[in-house]
Amino acid sequence: MSRKYNVAIVGATGAVGTQMLECLEEREFPVGNIKLLASGRSAGQTLEFKGHAVLVEELKHDSFEGVDIALFSAGGARSEEFCPSAAKAGAVCIDNSSAWRMNPDVPLVVPEVNPEAISGYTKKGIIANPNCSTIQMLVALKPLHDFAGIKRIVVSTYQAVSGTGNKAVEELRVQTGELLNGRPANNEVYPHRIAFNCLPQIDAFLENGYTKEEMKMVDETRKIMGDAIRTSATCVRVPVFFGHSESINIETEKKLTVEKARELLEDAPGVELVDDPAEHEYPMAMDAAGADAVLVGRLREDLSLENGLNLWVVADNVRKGAATNAVQIAELLIEKYLK
Ligand code: NAP
Repeated sequence: MSRKYNVAIVGATGAVGTQMLECLEEREFPVGNIKLLASGRSAGQTLEFKGHAVLVEELKHDSFEGVDIALFSAGGARSEEFCPSAAKAGAVCIDNSSAWRMNPDVPLVVPEVNPEAISGYTKKGIIANPNCSTIQMLVALKPLHDFAGIKRIVVSTYQAVSGTGNKAVEELRVQTGELLNGRPANNEVYPHRIAFNCLPQIDAFLENGYTKEEMKMVDETRKIMGDAIRTSATCVRVPVFFGHSESINIETEKKLTVEKARELLEDAPGVELVDDPAEHEYPMAMDAAGADAVLVGRLREDLSLENGLNLWVVADNVRKGAATNAVQIAELLIEKYLK
């Protein structure tokens, strides 16, 4: 009989955690025991896995005995504090937070882009999942980079509220209802109302004027696809529940025609080309939500540059941007390293 793996989900009750549970089941990951961990607030609740109710337990330092793989999505502070305990107990941690991403001893992995980096997990017992906006951008750009050599990326994002977790999904739902009924809308999660609005701020501002989210796209792109790539990012929160959209402009070393880009993207792993403007076919958040593919379309040569291309890239931030990417990493880990 083939081996089964004991899996823990830290942050199991959250937007990403619940999706991780679904992904493990959908993708038939060979789970032996499943352990669901969250804060003391959720301990005692149950979540369903493969038709059975599984008890949610409070996250503690000794929660990881016998666990082979720990999927973390409970925020950076929990990852920073508890990944070392999990690794010490023998679990390989796959972390969704930003806590470990830029640590030189922790691989930062998008399976379609740099699967070979996983081998570095032995240094700390931790593998980091990149930021959701970085993941979908790099899945789309990797085949173009391999062919034409990307020098510079200019990206503007249109990010869904689910990227901030369950509380933000609820805030957009409630605000929308209140405003449509002529009542005032309160905001708690974001600094301003998000319903019927766009916020040019994701995460905190840094001294250089960019937000942390924008700098994550800059730094993570370099770590995953190479130091030579310069990125300029503007990240915007929009009143969409699921699915991040990105307007991306690239400047390449070598000429990349629309036809060639289309050919490369048609064969690219994880990419679905949706690019028939005459038929009004292009990537949209409502089509990406609930699926794993990174949708790419609106391919156009940049008329202001010699070697430039524009594209529009959309993916489900909670799935490919987080849960699916983590489970794909776990799949590679057991296939190649934890046999
Ligand atoms: P969320 O919906 O707010 O869920 C947070 C989860 O963390 C819940 O299960 C919560 O448990 C748990 N948690 C909070 N405080 C805890 C504590 N002190 N001890 C143990 N567990 C605790 O947030 P999310 O969107 O799922 O995000 C989770 C992580 O994934 C974050 O680091 C986020 O940056 C990252 N991420 C999210 C996305 C996305 O698209 N949403 C994408 C990439 C990465 P309770 O239910 O008990 O409070």
